[in-house]
Amino acid sequence: MNFQSGLSKSAFVPARRMEGVSESATLRLNALVQKMRAEGEDVVNLTTGEPDFDVPEAAKEAAIDAIKKNRSKYTPAAGIPELRAKIAARINAQQPSLQAVHPWTAADIVVTNGAKQAIFQSLLALVDEGDQVLIPAPYWLSYPEMAKLASGKSMILPTLFEEGYILQAAELEKALQNCASSGTRARILFLNSPSNPTGGMYSRNDFRRLGDIILKSPFAQDLWVISDEIYDRIVYGDVAFCSFLEACPELRDRVITVNGLSKSAAMTGWRVGWSVAPPSIQSSLVTLQGQSTSGINSVAQWASLAALDLPEETFADQIRQYRERRDLVLAILGQSGKLRVFSPLGAFYAWVDVRGACRTGEDSGQFSERLLSDGKVAVVPGDPFGGSGCIRISFAANLETLRKGCERFVRLVEA
Ligand code: PLP
Repeated sequence: MNFQSGLSKSAFVPARRMEGVSESATLRLNALVQKMRAEGEDVVNLTTGEPDFDVPEAAKEAAIDAIKKNRSKYTPAAGIPELRAKIAARINAQQPSLQAVHPWTAADIVVTNGAKQAIFQSLLALVDEGDQVLIPAPYWLSYPEMAKLASGKSMILPTLFEEGYILQAAELEKALQNCASSGTRARILFLNSPSNPTGGMYSRNDFRRLGDIILKSPFAQDLWVISDEIYDRIVYGDVAFCSFLEACPELRDRVITVNGLSKSAAMTGWRVGWSVAPPSIQSSLVTLQGQSTSGINSVAQWASLAALDLPEETFADQIRQYRERRDLVLAILGQSGKLRVFSPLGAFYAWVDVRGACRTGEDSGQFSERLLSDGKVAVVPGDPFGGSGCIRISFAANLETLRKGCERFVRLVEA
């Protein structure tokens, strides 16, 4: 008997909230690269946003130990207390000004399925239909999609190469005035330092200037900052990492700081992130987590506890390698006068303006397609990051791969 009979194949219409929400461009590109490779093509893949280093041994051993000790029951929805306390200590160390007067405690932390879920939950807890979500561009491509899913409206705030891709105070002020005059509520400002995709970083003064605008704006009571600090440990020393609240401690009750182990400990697949948030919103975040995922995998939490115990120097060699790769990419791409490459201060991406290398009428998406089909190099086009005319190269790949990919890139552009 055919149970499908009577059902029309075209009957499914997704819920309205799915309208205009895009699939992740990086995941789609990776699938295309895998397909080309399966067909025997020698493709250099410079699209991935994950470290190519191994998970620390201590984390692996802690996971095995947790399994053997049957530490695999449901945990509290917000995470195991030991891990939450460790995360609170980590953020306090990054925010000494705040720590001195009002430190974070385990109760302020929710351990999430990667930083991604922490961001998503924050939006769901804060955004009402039609609220404005302010996003400096270029941005991590999931922010606008998540804002849409939370019924918010994205307002894109431009930043410039010449200004290090730093959101300028005047730009923020203008955006807040626009919200006020159009009668909409400015609810969220995303900040991401070091940035994916540009590698730009905010200094303490850059953040301070933005904090001052927020404090004197009509939205001082409504606007929340989501400070995405996932690349905090991958910095090259040109600008010191500054956590947003270290620069603007008065905003403690309006900021959610997001971080995780995907980048700093190369633990992408373990899916461990967290939010650090003030008490006013904490119970909403815990409720969202309890009713959606019940909390994250217990074994991954025990592994994370061990990873967080490792001194920062454990990862010094990875940073050295990232720096070496960055310098190689900049040196090779710098050979072409048609490319304008931003020198990243943190994270592991090179953001390249390719307008000088595009054919007439070609956009960065079409350029990336040509680079893939003719040059056999996969990069991510800038448009999904809000950066048309640019492409993103990941240098989470070994030197040999990077050399080959970048040389092919320059050859294609100069041909
Ligand atoms: N935020 C930024 C800026 C990212 O680049 C990423 C991952 O690429 C995330 C958040 C999500 O990280 P996670 O793997 O912890 O969910």
